Amino acid sequence: MKYLFGPVNSRRFGRSLGIDLLPTKICTMNCVYCECGETEMCTDEVKEYVPTKEVIAELSSYLSPAPSLDAITFAGSGEPTLHEGIGDIIDFIKNRYSAYRVVVLTNGSLLWRDDIRTRILHADIIVPSLDAVSKEVFGKINRPSFGFDPEKIIEGLVRLREEFIRTIFLEVFILPGFNDGDDELKRLRDAIVRINPDAVQLNTLDRPGSVAGLRAADRPLLERVRNAFFPLKVDIIGNAETAVVKETVSGVNDVLALIRRRPSTMDDIIAGLALTSAEAENAIDELYRQGRIAKKEGARGDFYYAL
Ligand code: SF4
Repeated sequence: MKYLFGPVNSRRFGRSLGIDLLPTKICTMNCVYCECGETEMCTDEVKEYVPTKEVIAELSSYLSPAPSLDAITFAGSGEPTLHEGIGDIIDFIKNRYSAYRVVVLTNGSLLWRDDIRTRILHADIIVPSLDAVSKEVFGKINRPSFGFDPEKIIEGLVRLREEFIRTIFLEVFILPGFNDGDDELKRLRDAIVRINPDAVQLNTLDRPGSVAGLRAADRPLLERVRNAFFPLKVDIIGNAETAVVKETVSGVNDVLALIRRRPSTMDDIIAGLALTSAEAENAIDELYRQGRIAKKEGARGDFYYAL
């Protein structure tokens, strides 16, 4: 599969097929914690980065046998709303395969634009993120492409809430030393009250970020943030999407497809793709031999990532 990956067994969305609309790491931001590594193209140019028709054809072929899935999630190696065909792809799924919930994970940076919000209004769940409100903290943690103002992003999220009648989960990534100060948490809380999502989801570092030396938030810190956001509904999701399940026999290409979108430990690969240790090790050895992967040390061990 070129544009589809997984399915991922997600605590939030159930068994979820991923769609990646970007050929490489293309995003409006370059977050220090990004598990996909440094942004290769930091841009706000919206265009057809991969052919919409090809994505729809691959979806059609995958979905026609009616696989067991709960959701289809726009995620992967960058910001999916940068792809101008996202609305057509959402409409294709909802018109032809309406039993599957469509989820859009977005950094929210383009939602101040009416045309971008309109494209994703037929999704079932939208999960925008907001990690900072002050320009200083926003600049340090999200490192956006030129011209993004957090207040403009918040206004876009407020408008999305007015127009979108289904579920919005607002994800906040907590990074110690960046956005866990009392003042920033208060600003975040006030902004989230304005946005009025169905729930807030607190996330933190699970894999190496694009910058070395970052720490994950521990449970007491996440609880402190939850208290600071009272009375908003806040779920601590942490490491919610680690496990991946697959029904078919997996091999080198499946391992590569997985770690291209989500750097993984050997245990993640074994559990996720339902491989034996020997199968996973053989696949990793082969990918090393081909020069297609490398590894980086993280809190849970060595993480393999694609080159
Ligand atoms: S974490 Fe999301 S918004 Fe940030 S750089 Fe990575 S893909 Fe872009």
